[in-house]
Amino acid sequence: MADARVYLDHNATAPLRPAARDAMIAALSMTGNPSSVHAEGRAMRAMIGRARQAVADLCGTTPARVTFTSGATEAANLALSPDYRMGRAALKIAHLYVSGVEHPCVLSGGRFPADAVTVLPVDAAGRLDLDALDVALSTHDAAQGQAMLALQLANNETGVIQPVAEAARIVHARQGLVVVDAVQGAGRMSLSLSELGADFLFVSAHKIGGPAGCGALVASGEILMPAPLIRGGGQEKGHRGGTENSAAIIGFGAAAIEAMAEAAASATLRVIRDRIEARIRALAPDVIIHGAEAERLANTIFFSLPGLKAETSQIGFDMEGIAVSAGSACSSGKVGTSHVLAAMGADDRLGAIRVSIGHSTTDGDVDRFLAAFETINSRRLSRQPGAHAA
Ligand code: PLP
Repeated sequence: MADARVYLDHNATAPLRPAARDAMIAALSMTGNPSSVHAEGRAMRAMIGRARQAVADLCGTTPARVTFTSGATEAANLALSPDYRMGRAALKIAHLYVSGVEHPCVLSGGRFPADAVTVLPVDAAGRLDLDALDVALSTHDAAQGQAMLALQLANNETGVIQPVAEAARIVHARQGLVVVDAVQGAGRMSLSLSELGADFLFVSAHKIGGPAGCGALVASGEILMPAPLIRGGGQEKGHRGGTENSAAIIGFGAAAIEAMAEAAASATLRVIRDRIEARIRALAPDVIIHGAEAERLANTIFFSLPGLKAETSQIGFDMEGIAVSAGSACSSGKVGTSHVLAAMGADDRLGAIRVSIGHSTTDGDVDRFLAAFETINSRRLSRQPGAHAA
């Protein structure tokens, strides 16, 4: 029998956790619109309430501040808006600042017009340049409205962690707002909205072992909220219309409970990650591990092998039964150049391979990956000028 596949692409989407699957199957077997007042509706609403509590716990806040959405992309489009309300008063956000390594759901600027979005530089490790942020905000014309910074907690390609709390202090000193894309950090590092100093953050269920198509915008209070993106029947306190995707939300809650417990034990992932890195450095001393000089998520390695296109090595890994990414997953499945590497000033012509591990990764998976790496790397070395056929 052929060996089972090895899945090392958790940053694209993590395998569905059995607990999430069981919770969803149970929810799918129930009938009830959570807005209905009868017993069926109330039962569904209670289950969504428990999921809301779990997601709030994951983000270090209270359930009333969690708005469920169809995923992080929708949450980003909800939060990145020029139109906010502070209670009954309208609040104008005049300009959006983002780092050059953000996910496309942030880089596209949400509901801001293109001329109201500024992309800020990052250093060679992909960390936001805090001086550039300060200078940009010093020229911001507050008479036109407040400034907003959207910054990710951790990068989906490199795993590099951003100095969010420091950035938030700079933005708040100038009365701006901070929205944090916590999609890759959630469940992989401790996450607390207040410790980050964020006004809002958003998370996605499928990155932590819940279902795709479900996420949440989490606010630091209940008074300040963006104008809704989807208006309708007043669900989610009017912040997001449409009958809730109950089963997905309930699966998200079940995944959040497990992911939160694991985030505290990220040392286990770090041991696996360090083992992989030590071995690939030994086999390929010229390997470039992007962002290695910065603080990174314990689950991510993004590397380039000189002389070998990432696309070619990805196919090699796939043929060995191993799923890794060449860059981040694009909607079309195509492999483009990495805007993250470009923003870091790295040579992105050959691309890079992303290995991202998680709750399902075993030592056996790592052995299989390292054996495949050895084969692919030997092939590369044998093709280098001056190499002799073995
Ligand atoms: N932000 C980051 C950092 C991501 O990695 C992703 C998914 O790749 C998203 C946002 C979008 O999440 P979703 O798939 O839930 O829309």
